Amino acid sequence: MIVDTVTGIFVNGKWKTSNHGKTFEVNNPATLEKIAELPYGGGEETREAIDAAKAAFPAWSELTGRERSTYLYNAYHLMQERKEKLARLLTEEQGKPLKEARGEIEFAASFLLWYAEEASRIYGEMVPATKRNKRLWVVPKPIGVVAAITPWNFPAAMVTRKVAPALAAGCTVVLKPAELTPLSAIEIVKIFEDAGLPKGVLNMVAGNPEEIGEALMESKDVRLVTFTGSTEVGKLLIEGSAKTVKKLSLELGGHAPFLVFEDADLNLAAEQALASKYRNCGQTCICTNRIYVQSAVKEEFTRILEEKVSKLKIGNGQEEDVDIGPLINESGLKKVKDQVEDALSKGADLYTGGSQWSGENGYYYEPTILANVTEEMKIMSQETFGPVVPVMAFENEEEVISKANDTDYGLAAFLFTNDLNRAITIMEKLDYGIIGINDVFPGTAEAPFGGIKESGMGKEGGHEGIQEFVEMKYVSIGLQNGKQ
Ligand code: ADP
Repeated sequence: MIVDTVTGIFVNGKWKTSNHGKTFEVNNPATLEKIAELPYGGGEETREAIDAAKAAFPAWSELTGRERSTYLYNAYHLMQERKEKLARLLTEEQGKPLKEARGEIEFAASFLLWYAEEASRIYGEMVPATKRNKRLWVVPKPIGVVAAITPWNFPAAMVTRKVAPALAAGCTVVLKPAELTPLSAIEIVKIFEDAGLPKGVLNMVAGNPEEIGEALMESKDVRLVTFTGSTEVGKLLIEGSAKTVKKLSLELGGHAPFLVFEDADLNLAAEQALASKYRNCGQTCICTNRIYVQSAVKEEFTRILEEKVSKLKIGNGQEEDVDIGPLINESGLKKVKDQVEDALSKGADLYTGGSQWSGENGYYYEPTILANVTEEMKIMSQETFGPVVPVMAFENEEEVISKANDTDYGLAAFLFTNDLNRAITIMEKLDYGIIGINDVFPGTAEAPFGGIKESGMGKEGGHEGIQEFVEMKYVSIGLQNGKQ
């Protein structure tokens, strides 16, 4: 597919080229073919975008929530109309199977709808004073210009999950999409343009991450950076934010444990492990990264999982029946190979997979299960971001809770059991921001998504998600009525 997009720089309602004429390529990870060449935005374009967002802020933030929601409803309907084209483009630039890309576009649209609804529900508070001549108000205000930095693994949904609540709250935005997958973001910005969004309210700069990042962090006008990506870059942003004391909302890496107890429905657990581990070729931040199975059922669970894995079809995601597409790029593939080689060299057993798949040109790797793993293997502590899962046996609850929590990450954890007491007790002891009990799909527009520890800070989705973009102004009023 040749893409009709020519630029990923959108400033003050206009699509433009880069100031220095540099370009970058977007390639299809399933075929390695070039699908687009875009202007390479940098610091200058970013400063222009910030200025446009700053100029648009007063008028946008003065609108009522209901007025702002109209644009979000319009964008939602346009996204529904364009969903098939968007899904195909998403697969083209990112590699995920078409059925998953369609699911992502639905997910992306759900944030537009949810925050269209939430726009008129941002409440303040009237605090009862302890003095009779005082009135104390807490008044919500949009935080100002927001920078939204999005990743390549969900090139559409992570854009709307950030942009929709920001706009609903009355903020204006500079969006920086991942340079590997800017095309979906461009189409979403076009949707907002067609939805009639006033110029300058949403701007975008695709291009050089370091330069754009630096310009965003140095600007006194950018008051919040909302970021999804690696813990490594998240830490750079934390450092950068000190210069101007910016607020940050960070959704970073994860290393999700998947716990299977002997009383669990093993077929359901294996089905869900398959979905959690291998969707998006293992490239989601809440992907299962390590499976712990109670020893009495380990062999049976692993056999069922292996049987299901053997039925997965690898290939170009544009083919309707493909289950596993390519990894995003060469370094993603290298990391996966390295973790598997490391585990095998330290004594792990290969249940299935274990090799690069060469049926096509792209960055493919076979869905893989490793057994007899130990804590010293890289895969047990490093985020894998690929279609490989280690399975380890455990004996009792205390042991598995300690193993599950033994990580710097704290994004998502999953547990499978049919014992209600056990489910609640274990859930309460797991140090994670998101817990799935017999469920590996917790992500939804209505609920707060976010991690603890080195997985980040802040929430996305739910009514909590919009609060990231709101500051509470406290107002103390003294009445001259003679009362104390
Ligand atoms: P991954 O390692 O999964 O590619 P990254 O954290 O590198 O994740 O990327 C997530 C997003 O952060 C992308 O939009 C990327 O361009 C951006 N990014 C990478 N480096 C920087 C940086 N130094 N400053 C700001 N954004 C960055």
